[in-house]
Amino acid sequence: CGIVGVTGNKNATSILVNGLEKLQYRGYDSAGIFVDSKDHKDYLVKTTGSIDDLKKKIGPEVQGTAGIGHTRWATHGGVNIDNAHPQFSDDDRFYLVHNGVIENYEQLKKEYLPNVKFHSQTDTEVAVQLVDKFVTEDGMTTKDAFIKMLSLLKNSSYAFILMDRDDPDTLYAAKNKSPMLIGLCDGFNVVCSDSIAMLDVTDTFLEVVDGDVAIVKPDSVTVLDEKRKPAKRNQFKVTIDP
Ligand code: GLU
Repeated sequence: CGIVGVTGNKNATSILVNGLEKLQYRGYDSAGIFVDSKDHKDYLVKTTGSIDDLKKKIGPEVQGTAGIGHTRWATHGGVNIDNAHPQFSDDDRFYLVHNGVIENYEQLKKEYLPNVKFHSQTDTEVAVQLVDKFVTEDGMTTKDAFIKMLSLLKNSSYAFILMDRDDPDTLYAAKNKSPMLIGLCDGFNVVCSDSIAMLDVTDTFLEVVDGDVAIVKPDSVTVLDEKRKPAKRNQFKVTIDP
């Protein structure tokens, strides 16, 4: 399983698909991407099977400058299109990819989302519906809602990338016990499970640690530590032998 994300001045679709292809070694049973082209043209493409199957479903209209992608290894909910990621909120505003397991998702669903209609059987959907509730009902900013959602997860593992269609240039990323890196580029930035996914676009990566939140924009990356204070993280270069 793997996650990828991109925001900036590049063709998001090809960077996401290429990244997912490189992450197939991590295992998968389904895959999907969400791409935003700023003028509120958004594309969600999901499939069971391989990245080749996904590619066949991606038409030429699927273009944008920001997006997220996922290869899934199902833990909660069967292998089908509804359970493939990106998962989204019921008002279609927030999109989320997730690697890992949310152990207390049933309790969170009962406590916070008793009236929400769920469209998947995944643990992941609870996370994106929570963000939506905190923003649309409780008036929080997307960043604060993302941070609050993270604070409610118990004994869970995750690498998350969240997109808000009202501010599609910004990726909200977080990790705990699942791998995730930020790739730094010129005019765009990327997020990935493994640097191998993005070596075609950058050789410079930022190593976020468990508990961090990263706010990734085309020209900036802000990392917040567990206390939600700005943190400086180790930057490294990956060189591949020719
Ligand atoms: N627990 C999530 C699901 O079953 C994510 C699985 C994964 O890491 O791919 O949908």
